[in-house]
Amino acid sequence: MKVLKTIKEMQDQADHIRASGRKIGFVPTMGALHEGHLSLIRLARQSADVVVMSIYVNPAQFGPDEDYDLYPRNFAKDESLARQAGADIIFYPDDKQMYPEPFLTDVAVHSITENLCGASRPGHFQGVAVVCAKLFNIVKPHFAVFGQKDAQQAAVIRQMARDLNFDMEIITAPIVREPDGLAMSSRNAYLSSEERQDALSLNQALRMSLEAVENGERSCARLIHLIEEYISAKKNTTIDYVKIADPFSMNDIEYIKDKAVIAVAVFLGKTRLIDNVYVEVQDEARH
Ligand code: AMP
Repeated sequence: MKVLKTIKEMQDQADHIRASGRKIGFVPTMGALHEGHLSLIRLARQSADVVVMSIYVNPAQFGPDEDYDLYPRNFAKDESLARQAGADIIFYPDDKQMYPEPFLTDVAVHSITENLCGASRPGHFQGVAVVCAKLFNIVKPHFAVFGQKDAQQAAVIRQMARDLNFDMEIITAPIVREPDGLAMSSRNAYLSSEERQDALSLNQALRMSLEAVENGERSCARLIHLIEEYISAKKNTTIDYVKIADPFSMNDIEYIKDKAVIAVAVFLGKTRLIDNVYVEVQDEARH
């Protein structure tokens, strides 16, 4: 496995790989790797000849009061995990490489970025879009893999790739969870043991809502109420949002008619965690 730190080296490698007819699969991350990230490498491995993982804590996607400085960074550990999972190249640039002065370009994906995390984290998806656009031009992948854990992010990047004609496929991979159901996240490392216990309520509430849908509930207001009641009963939780949205437009929906994403963002103490489930119903009579 190679570690490349400059854009020029990465672009030259990508050209070389492409010229020899091999397929590049790409997994962008911010490091602090866990089994969720590694599952993306393994998925990429299945159809790529060369798997590239980027590790870059992108300042542009953090708000001024967010955890950019605190974000866990451990390159030596990440390097060994990525190697074991089957990555061929790690692209590991620094801020000077990625955002040389002056940096004057924005990538704004509209509408789909306005609800859910976009509403709570102004500017977040602009930061995500610009770094992904840059990384796609640097790594030149045939496809990139994103986790369903960040459902809105995957939808935003898919839209951006379509709108800007990035010649690549965007693949989404299922959420990897701890044995007790907690969605894996680099931010789980911030949790106290009490907070971690209460964090289980996110997945538990989402599963309860799925059960309610299975039993015929279609009203999003009632499903949201059910989730909010369950999560807010835990001592260490403060709900940021509970939303049920169309998985393509990310707009709120009133009733579950076919496909929907049920998504939550909750603070456990100071740590903001997200989780979601995808639902699909096939009702005979639609109104
Ligand atoms: P991050 O390092 O948090 O920016 O995440 C990098 C990629 O890993 C994104 O595509 C995330 O959606 C994905 N990811 C993070 N956590 C998980 C998880 N628990 N299961 C699957 N994918 C994940």
